Amino acid sequence: MDLLEFWKDIENAETIGITGHTRPDGDCVGSCLGMYSYILNRYNKKADVFLEEMLSKFSFLKGSEDVITDYPDRDSYDVFIAIDSGDLERTGKAQKYFTAAKKTYCFDHHGTNTGYADQNMIVPSAAAAAELLTYIFDEDYIDLDTANALYVGFVHDTGVFKHSNTTRKTMEIAGMLLDKGVQPSKIIDGTFYEKTYIQNQVLGRCLMESILLMEGKVIISYISADVQKLYGITSSDMSGIIDQLRITKGVEVAILLKESKKREWFISMRSNNIVDVSKICVMFGGGGHLRAAGCTMYGSVHDCVNSLTKEIEKQLK
Ligand code: AMP
Ligand code: MN
Ligand code: MN
Repeated sequence: MDLLEFWKDIENAETIGITGHTRPDGDCVGSCLGMYSYILNRYNKKADVFLEEMLSKFSFLKGSEDVITDYPDRDSYDVFIAIDSGDLERTGKAQKYFTAAKKTYCFDHHGTNTGYADQNMIVPSAAAAAELLTYIFDEDYIDLDTANALYVGFVHDTGVFKHSNTTRKTMEIAGMLLDKGVQPSKIIDGTFYEKTYIQNQVLGRCLMESILLMEGKVIISYISADVQKLYGITSSDMSGIIDQLRITKGVEVAILLKESKKREWFISMRSNNIVDVSKICVMFGGGGHLRAAGCTMYGSVHDCVNSLTKEIEKQLK
């Protein structure tokens, strides 16, 4: 990507749109609002941020109140930016702005990224899309609002700086963000560890119903659409469950199946040391990273798990 051109385009644009991906996670929200805050601080321009939902735990972030969740019709944007989304499909309803925009940019850290924008910056070694943004931001213009948003992205995609994507560089940049005034424990407890009573109940239920396969190398659990309805939960209420499954002693791969509608499953996969889960998820139309990936599958739990374990077996051989 020609970064000079990017910043020139931002400087000249009258309208700028930003989006992340469907079922937004902490990195998606943090990196989109980080870009929003940076553009506001550096260029005194208010970009439109489109996200499917704005989770209340992130509402302390600057710009969260301006996030647009209903995707109204708009004149085509001068510049439209996708962040943390590996393919156009995953930008969800924002696709219409993206395809109509005069110039599109994509900033992402998924190795499976399809390069769908006019200009793409894909850095798989970046622990989070938020980390990638720090490579292109001028540190002098990172204010506390920008730093808070980016820090959220770091915390969520690294599982509080413990996943294998965390590097020395990650920690050093996170340190720079602390210098800007970020208060880590507030953000980490408030957005990552804190769970509602219902979220804890669902976590407990998933662990109770989990099953070990392949001599304990694989653990699976699932949540049907009916159970989600019973508890009144959405996808974001289930974040963290997959991480608890993954740290089961002896397990190499954890799989969580979340039924979105009858016989349609959002699959989350995690691995510990050996299996490339992104490779498997790509086979089923999804994507992700070496140790954390996802896809959508159809059929019974049994069918989905069978197809996935076949591929895991091949890699473990
Ligand atoms: P999740 O299990 O939803 O936390 O996702 C793990 C990783 O895989 C994240 O980096 C996601 O962006 C990516 N991912 C999840 N689902 C999909 C999908 N359907 N297509 C592409 N990438 C995905
Ligand atoms: Mn994400
Ligand atoms: Mn990410």
